[in-house]
Formats: sequence, structure tokens, C-alpha cells
Amino acid sequence: MKITISAIKADVGGIGGHTKPSDGLLDAVRKTIKNNRDLLIDHYIGYCGDDVHIIMTHTKGVDNKDIHQLAWTAFEEGTKVAKQEGLYGAGQDLLKDSFSGNIKGMGPGVAELEFEERPNEAFTVFAADKTEPGAFNYPFYRMFIDGLSNTGLIINKSLAEGVIINIMDVEEGKIAELTLWEDKPTIEAALMYPGRYVIATVNTKDGEPIVSSSTDRLHNIAGTYVGKDDPICIVRTQKKFPATEEVGSVFNNPHYVAGNTRGSHHMPLMPVKLNSAATIDFCIPIVIALVFSVHDGKLTGPFDGFSTADWDYIRQIATQKALAMRSQGFIHPATLVPSELEYSEGYKARMEKLESKMKPLKDDKSSFQRKESYEDPD
Ligand code: 13P
Ligand code: MG
Ligand code: MG
Repeated sequence: MKITISAIKADVGGIGGHTKPSDGLLDAVRKTIKNNRDLLIDHYIGYCGDDVHIIMTHTKGVDNKDIHQLAWTAFEEGTKVAKQEGLYGAGQDLLKDSFSGNIKGMGPGVAELEFEERPNEAFTVFAADKTEPGAFNYPFYRMFIDGLSNTGLIINKSLAEGVIINIMDVEEGKIAELTLWEDKPTIEAALMYPGRYVIATVNTKDGEPIVSSSTDRLHNIAGTYVGKDDPICIVRTQKKFPATEEVGSVFNNPHYVAGNTRGSHHMPLMPVKLNSAATIDFCIPIVIALVFSVHDGKLTGPFDGFSTADWDYIRQIATQKALAMRSQGFIHPATLVPSELEYSEGYKARMEKLESKMKPLKDDKSSFQRKESYEDPD
């Protein structure tokens, strides 16, 4: 049976700040989906920090108007409650006034996969808060390219052949298809800058979809900072694909990602339990793992992937790394590069003030003249 999994998420309000949705908000989202359940085979609704995710199974394929409309309406209904309750950032990610056929580019994040269901179909959804889509670059690298992180890349026949990775340039709105293993250094060069180049999909060489990840950047839609583009992705697991534990373990080294407070800092990505609020300790970026089985489109799960005892230790490492970075306050690299901060009105205002006070140097300027070109010493 051919099924589609659609994982669509949005932040439409948080209790007392960018923390978590209220019960009323979640009930409104749940009610809307339930009332339209004839469109779907099954669904699951939860949250990561202040982002609500709706995971749906159906037979309508990806980019389906009715499915996207349903998610949009559910988030609109959630927004109504968020406004009634005075939640912070009510309707934050609904950046357009009305739905126009596809929810992509309207604010919510979307990951979708359509495939012929295997008898024991397994997949994991990762949802993150207080970060950006490029936060998944490093874990995806460990999953599909780094044999030291994933032995499956050596001893699984399909994975050892290499996969096809589509990388999105989120600034220019272009996409490149790259093939392992021949394009390895080119993929690595792209993944070096997660603010610009983001893994969008991964497929096997014989065309089986493995990964779909959201790639929208909110400031590209809104033109200014409205919140981080907290990402979501779906990863199929087992058999020809990485094992569930190969997919989960790549989050066990909390790497620094862009995001957290005011979306303006670098902090480690901390794996947390399902339906966790964002921490008010400067909003350390968080990620959850929803581990599912699916049969004839019916979901079993989620099992809470980061709930076992070992992840408490990883959370401690993340907290230590977060405190280490915070100990240097606003000094870069604790803060983001200027081009990312320029979407913040406040930073722009400060730079304009600084510029207005800048005067040319009166004395010798020769040492400030630019060299025509840079020659590599090698
Ligand atoms: P969110 O993107 O999760 O809404 O957080 C925004 C923010 O600025 C937190 O400080
Ligand atoms: Mg928010
Ligand atoms: Mg959020």
C-alpha cells in the first residue's frame, strides 16, 4: 500500500513567552483534525517547546492541498485560542493572511514522504525548537556519511553503496542533487555553513525516499526576525535504511547550532523528552524523537526516543556546553554572525548609530588599503 506521512508544525503561541503551547491551544488543534479525520488514515499531535506538530498518514501524496489546508486551519483554530488566552506570539508562524494551496512558504514547517509501505514500516520524526533547519546537517552527516558514527554505512549493503542527498541553498532558493560517495567533499563544504545550505531530502540510489526535512526560513518570508524556523524531519529506519538506534545516536554529541534566545546565539542541541517545554535557561535548543511503527497507514507509537536513562547524561553534557558558551556573553561566536543578526531591527538600529559616528582616519591610510587578491601560501 502506498502511503504518505505529512509532518507539519507551527508555533502559534506560548505560555508566558516562547515556552510551550497551552492545553486550550492544543485542544483546538486536536479538535480541528478530529473533525476532518475522514481525510486521514491516522494522526498524532504533540509539541516541542512552543512548536506544535501534526503528524498525519493518508493516501493523497505530498503537497496535497486538502492536507495542507487542514493543517493550516488547525493552526488558525489554535491561534484563536492563543489570542483569547493572551499567549505570547499568538499566530507567530502564520505569516500569510489566507491559505493559498500549499502551506510551504506560509510559515509552518513541512516534511513529507510518500512510499510503498513495507510490512514492518518504521520511521522516526525529529522535531526541534529554538534553532533552524541547518541544525540537522550534522546529525544527518553522522547518519549517512560518517562510518565512525554509523557502522551501518560499512556493513549494510544498501547504505554502503551511498545515498543521494538534495541540499537546499536557503538564501537563493535553489537545490542541488549530490551523490555519495563521489560528491563527499562537496557535500561537506556545503554542510559547513548550516545557515545557508540545508539537507532537504535523502534517497537511496534506487529511488526509495529515506528523509524529508523542513527547509523554510521565516525571515526569508517575513523579511524580518519573527522567530526561529524550528525544523522537523521524517527519517525511515531499518532494513535498507539506517537502524533506529543509528538514527537516534547521532544526536548524542550536542553540537552547537544557531538559535535560542532571540534566535541570535549559538548553543548546543539538547535531546529532550516528548512534549517538553523550552527551558527558560536562555532557551537551550531542544530536539525530540518520535519513534513510530506504521501498518496500512495506522500508527503505533510514538515511543519517546530520548526518554531512556542514558539521555539524562547527554542532557548534562548539553547543559555544560550551554553554560560554557554563555560564559562569554554576547561575544561572537556566542552570538550569530552579523548577516544573520541583520534581520533583527534592534541590531540594525545599533549598527546605524555606530556607522553615523564613524569618521575617516586623518593620518596614514596606506595600511588600510585592501590587497587586490589573496594568494594561498600553499
Ligand atoms: P521561537 O522561534 O521558538 O518562537 O523562539 C523565538 C525567540 O526569540 C526565543 O527567545
Ligand atoms: Mg515562539
Ligand atoms: Mg519555537
